Amino acid sequence: MSDPRKAVALISGGLDSLLAAKVIQEQGVHVEGINFFTGFCVEGHTHAIRKKERARPKRNNALWVAEQLGIKLHIVDIVEPYKEVVFNPRHGYGANLNPCLDCKIFMVNKAHEWLRQHSFDFIITGEVVGQRPMSQRKDTMPVVSKESGSGDLLLRPLCAKNLPETLPEREGWVKREQLYDFSGRSRKPQMALAERFGLKDYAQPAGGCCFLTDAQYASKLADLWRARGSKQYEMDDIMLLKVGRHLRPRPHFKLIISREEGEGNYLQGYRKQYVSIKTVSHPGPLALIDGEAGDEDIELAARLVARYSQGRDAPEVELEVADREGNSRLLRVRPMPAHEVPQAWHL
Ligand code: SF4
Repeated sequence: MSDPRKAVALISGGLDSLLAAKVIQEQGVHVEGINFFTGFCVEGHTHAIRKKERARPKRNNALWVAEQLGIKLHIVDIVEPYKEVVFNPRHGYGANLNPCLDCKIFMVNKAHEWLRQHSFDFIITGEVVGQRPMSQRKDTMPVVSKESGSGDLLLRPLCAKNLPETLPEREGWVKREQLYDFSGRSRKPQMALAERFGLKDYAQPAGGCCFLTDAQYASKLADLWRARGSKQYEMDDIMLLKVGRHLRPRPHFKLIISREEGEGNYLQGYRKQYVSIKTVSHPGPLALIDGEAGDEDIELAARLVARYSQGRDAPEVELEVADREGNSRLLRVRPMPAHEVPQAWHL
């Protein structure tokens, strides 16, 4: 018997990529997964530190999918090259700062490079025609194949019957009649197929696979770019945008205020990089100052932090202000009343 054909599947951790890989695996093809880490991925970050998300399993969904399928998963860090996609998407942004079409082209292109290096035969994605407004439309799906350089090596098993035949189908590596014709935004066909495969406990479909689709997150990222005068970010920046309450009371600094104990613990890890403020006289949050703040700014920041502490109604709250070297001083301030905090300060 000849060796089976080999396919590399883009695995996001969601149901669609799981099903697409499974459908091809069932046809006797050797499948391995590839998962791209951009830094904006939803999985495994904030829900691991927030109390209200405690009930959700804290797992890496891409690894969970690989385990369900019994396949090898290659996790590829694309943080640096991906920045160009976020900064200058040729096809523009979606509803927020999500460059979905460019992102898909970029990831399929990377998978295609990987395929050539590892002598695999074709690429699988869990895309479904009509499912997403930007990257998964009938007119944009050929754009992904073409601009990624993968051409007809890119097979979308869940909607292949709605698309022209690809090389794996023409060559008989996979049977077209055993592929699917899903289309549109309904999740019912995917859920039915999951049931047929006996798959349970898969990640629930959300609005998108990364934080760039989230309006609040995108607004914080846009603020970061405005404040820095250019589109740029480091990993710490984009991680911190996922945590805490962000307020910008002055153009030259913003505050990141923990909303609960888990976030406070998380922000502790950044105390050597930022000036930090913590309430002392009353239980309250830990806050970081991002930017250069003078004495007046620090007093304003302290009043805001006090406003989110249990001393918000007290005449005065004592706080500890620590610089990046760990030198600290105490400060007593009057908590800022809610009505004095302009809505525009909230990012
Ligand atoms: S939601 Fe995020 S990861 Fe998914 S295609 Fe859009 S930009 Fe890329």
